[in-house]
Order: sequence, then C-alpha cells, then structure tokens
Amino acid sequence: MAPSLEEPEPVGDVLSNPLKSKPQLVAPEPEHCPGPESQQAGTADSCAGCPNKAICASAPKGPDPDIPLISARLSGIKHKILVLSGKGGVGKSTFTSLMGYAFAMREEINVGIMDTDLCGPSIPKMMGVEAETIHVSGTGWSPVYMSDNLSVMSIQFMLPNRDDAIIWRGPKKNGLIKKFLKDVDWGDLDFLLVDTPPGTSDEHLSVNSFLKESGIDGAIMVTTPQEVALLDVRREIDFCRKAGIRVLGLVENMSGFVCPNCTHESQIFRATTGGGRALAKEMGLPFLGEVPLDPRIGMACDYGESFFDEYPDSPACKALKGVVRRLAEEMGVDPQLVSPDD
Ligand code: SF4
Repeated sequence: MAPSLEEPEPVGDVLSNPLKSKPQLVAPEPEHCPGPESQQAGTADSCAGCPNKAICASAPKGPDPDIPLISARLSGIKHKILVLSGKGGVGKSTFTSLMGYAFAMREEINVGIMDTDLCGPSIPKMMGVEAETIHVSGTGWSPVYMSDNLSVMSIQFMLPNRDDAIIWRGPKKNGLIKKFLKDVDWGDLDFLLVDTPPGTSDEHLSVNSFLKESGIDGAIMVTTPQEVALLDVRREIDFCRKAGIRVLGLVENMSGFVCPNCTHESQIFRATTGGGRALAKEMGLPFLGEVPLDPRIGMACDYGESFFDEYPDSPACKALKGVVRRLAEEMGVDPQLVSPDD
C-alpha cells in the first residue's frame, strides 16, 4: 500500500490551537479519558490510576495568557494584512516592501512591515536596513524606521552575522513571532503588513492564532501567471478558508515584461490557464491587479532603495498604486485617501 499522509490530528484542532501541543503520553488514553489537553486532564476522577496522570496534570492548560497582551499591544493598529503566496519565488517579499512604500507615500499614513519569514528574511535587505539592530526601550522593542512613517521588524536585525542560517523548529518560531507581536512597540499604525514564508506552515498558524483576537483584515495572495504557481495558490486559499482568514484579493506579479526603454510589453511567464485574473474569478475572489516585471525593481531591492522614489512614472509603480487602491476598497477605506489617482 502506498504511504498515506492522512492527518494525524484533525485539521480543525491544528487551526484552532496550533500552539498547544498534546502532552507526550507514556500509555494510550483510557476509555473514559477527559482528554489530555482538557482542563480536567490529570485531575479528573477518571484519571485515577492512569499512567499518564502526572504528565497530564502538569501540562499547560487553557487559552494562551499572552493573547490579551498581544491584543492590547496591537490596539493602535487599524488594519492588519497578511501577504501570502503558495509558492516561493513569486516576488512576495518584494511585493510586500513595495506595498509598504506605496502606502507610506502619504506622509500621514503610518505603515509597519513585520517579516515573519524567519528562515529567509529578505525585507531588511530590500529596504536597505539589513545592518540595523533592534533597540530595546522601556516600552518594548523598537522597529527599525526607514522613514518617519515606515517601520520594519525582522529576525535579520537580531543575527550577529547576516549570513547565519536560522535552523529553528516550530515552537521556537512561534516564540519569536509572539515576541514580535507582544513586545514590539509599533505605536499607532494605519497598516501592518505581515510578510510570511511560502506555503502553510508554523509561521502562518502562529500569526493567525495570535492575531485572531485582535483581528486581521485579511490576506493578499501573490502569484505569478503560470499554472504551477496558481496550483499552490489554490492550496493557500483553501488554508485561509479553513483558518477563517478572509482573502482580500489576488495579485498577479511578474505579469508581463514592460521594456524600460521602449515600453513594449512581452509575456515572459505566459498564463496558460488564464493566470491570476481567471483564478480569482473561478474562486470568487477580488482581483487586485497585475504588476509587470521590471528589472529595475530587482536593482532597487538590491541597493535597498525605494522603487517608488526612483521610478514613480513606471508602469509597475502605477500598477502597484492601483493594487493599493483596490485593496483599500476591499477594506472599506477610501482609496483616494490611501493613493490618489495620478
Ligand atoms: S491522565 Fe487523565 S487525561 Fe491524561 S490520559 Fe489518563 S485519563 Fe486521559
């Protein structure tokens, strides 16, 4: 028989409480077990004589006591947006940094970017602050400020050497994400963009679990036009539906190549099945727009410069402003307040 990936525990349990792990039992649960994760575990009458009694009695119980602290810490943030992609290499972190710049073009809009790609943090490099470190004050950890209204927090700021590999298991990742949410002094923000690694893993589960009480507006899905990327986006959309995260919309990145010299557009990653627009229609999701590939975006990221400042009239900048306006609409914010029409 072929090996099976049947779930070892119900999906609902993982999504509703991914941070609580079942205690390691030394014997099977008896017939009248109240549940090793229940409040009565190890102390109920039915636990008498069970070999797991001491383990169950000492296992942590009840809701995470840090959740109310996280909610209080984030109470000054109006909108929290997850940036997701099913697949790596679709330009999600680049897109997140560009969205940060796009929102922060209005001086009165305060924006934060939280980089939860713990094993591959790239936002600090793209924003030209990779050599910065975190400062700790009486009010918590200070994010690194790119400008008066744009701040970033990333594990990169905590690494002694920028090339150090981060080899962490789930609980340690959960712990750092919790610290980012509980201890970082974001101040009052209009938008917090949470950049996530590709896929549906520990980082996604913990962010969702920690932010559920304080409220997430929803998630943006970033894809490229090819079916191989769209396939993974379908899984990511399914994850959001199971986790109760609203999908604010889908963005197609690297959607055609506009030559910076002659402005001729060519299709590098051809959409064989209709691309992001067709997928959004199929899934009944808003399509936020198409952002063309522009080699100058990669260069701006390598040099840690703002593409918006360098090439404000480029087709990619105009497309990103359109995405920001569509996103604002989906969140019930006046698009003209966020990014006025050119
Ligand atoms: S100690 Fe109680 S809760 Fe734990 S496995 Fe035994 S019966 Fe179940």
